[in-house]
Amino acid sequence: MSTTKITMDSILSLSKRRGFVFQSSEIYGGLNGCWDYGPLGVELLRNIKEAWWKSMTYRDDIEGIDASILMHPRTWEASGHLSQFSDPMIDNKTSKSRYRADTLIEEYIAKLRNKNKTIKADEVEKRLASVSSNEDYYSIIIDEGITDPVSGTAEWTEVRNFNLMFKTYLGPTEDSNAVVYLRPETAQGIFVNFKNVLDTSRQKIPFGIAQIGKSFRNEINTKNFLFRTREFEQMEMQYFVKPGTHKEYYEEWVQIRRDWYKRLGMKDESLRFKNHEKLAHYADAAVDIEFLFPFGWGEIEGIHSRTDFDLMKHQEFSGKKLEFVDTVTKDRFVPYVVETAAGASRNFMAFLCNAYDEETVTDDKGGEEVRTVLRFSPELAPVTAAVFPLINNENLLEISTKLYKSLQQSMKVQFDKSGAIGRRYRRQDEIGTPFCITVDFETIDDQCVTIRERDSMMQERVSLDQVRSYIQSKM
Ligand code: ATP
Repeated sequence: MSTTKITMDSILSLSKRRGFVFQSSEIYGGLNGCWDYGPLGVELLRNIKEAWWKSMTYRDDIEGIDASILMHPRTWEASGHLSQFSDPMIDNKTSKSRYRADTLIEEYIAKLRNKNKTIKADEVEKRLASVSSNEDYYSIIIDEGITDPVSGTAEWTEVRNFNLMFKTYLGPTEDSNAVVYLRPETAQGIFVNFKNVLDTSRQKIPFGIAQIGKSFRNEINTKNFLFRTREFEQMEMQYFVKPGTHKEYYEEWVQIRRDWYKRLGMKDESLRFKNHEKLAHYADAAVDIEFLFPFGWGEIEGIHSRTDFDLMKHQEFSGKKLEFVDTVTKDRFVPYVVETAAGASRNFMAFLCNAYDEETVTDDKGGEEVRTVLRFSPELAPVTAAVFPLINNENLLEISTKLYKSLQQSMKVQFDKSGAIGRRYRRQDEIGTPFCITVDFETIDDQCVTIRERDSMMQERVSLDQVRSYIQSKM
């Protein structure tokens, strides 16, 4: 049974201690908002992406692509990112600290709620929900006397827009004609390839295009570990449908994505679907899939019914027709789009928090000890199995090495021959390895090993030649 409440500190400390995540360029003091995935982290991240990729593209109606990060600058004019992809920014004159005005107000509301000032919190929240200009943000901050968490003063500048796209130059000349942007989302790579995929894949409407890739946003503030970073990975799928059928497909995709998270072990109480009350200008329905992190609820994926906004814009800016022509009915239309946009890095953090547990168990001597265990679904676990020779005996080493090498051909396996078996179990529990296999003296006679399952800690004797199929059946 679980005994403790999970904190971000325990997640961070485990991540660093066991090599899931490190600060970027740590030996130089780190780089704000950037993180590196270590040996175990990269396996978990790849398994999440793989589970997503298979669920999206191992079906008849979705194709995958991998578009370039740098795109023609007109893309961002058409999509509206150049003019509108900005956050409201405010500076404190005393501390020179910079904040997102909406986040500053949200944190103030959270503080009011913590102090049980519910009526006031509701009132400010209502004002925030109806903000329509930077002046409105500014008025709330001033009226409420919101102070800077660093300096404690209310010496604020006005609120300005800050565009989140990273700018750079293509080629050797640094003039305005050479400006390009690091993509802030993968979706536009899909929209501009809509016709290419349609013409080369023999797909018909409805069909989807899926992509996993890096995106970059020059966020004003990064925080909460991997939640808001400046470089991150997205897993996006745009599903192109006939106008009029979009509502039905939107509902279907909300259900498919709910099932995906559940299949991979996401707890019901840690996941919620929050419908957007205020819709973006291009959407006619939208929902955020939120996970309950130790710091509160946070979005890990958005599902949007985007109408024909994107393809229409690209058609207008490129001058190229982006229509679907039904060869039977001769119907011709610009498809509507239902999009599922998930963050791979936010999913990583959500699956890590979802799996983290500390429980009190009986130790080898009959006393009590706390074991940290990551209860990953076997499909996501960074290491699938660990092989232990009971002691350092030549015969046991030979059998266990042979088993280890053979399993290694199809899964990630670790070999551990040091310390008491109990300690070896704990080391694997802490990184979420679902199966630990012990080779003991009986193995020499009966050709069987003991497989111990991580969550139940139940042990089973399994024939050496059945180990691989036993594990595969549990996956
Ligand atoms: P937020 O409101 O949290 O900034 P968003 O609504 O702008 O997110 P989308 O543009 O819909 O996010 O992007 C889709 C997904 O990409 C998000 O659900 C999230 O998982 C991920 N994502 C977006 N921004 C970041 C970021 N700065 N760091 C990590 N992941 C991100």
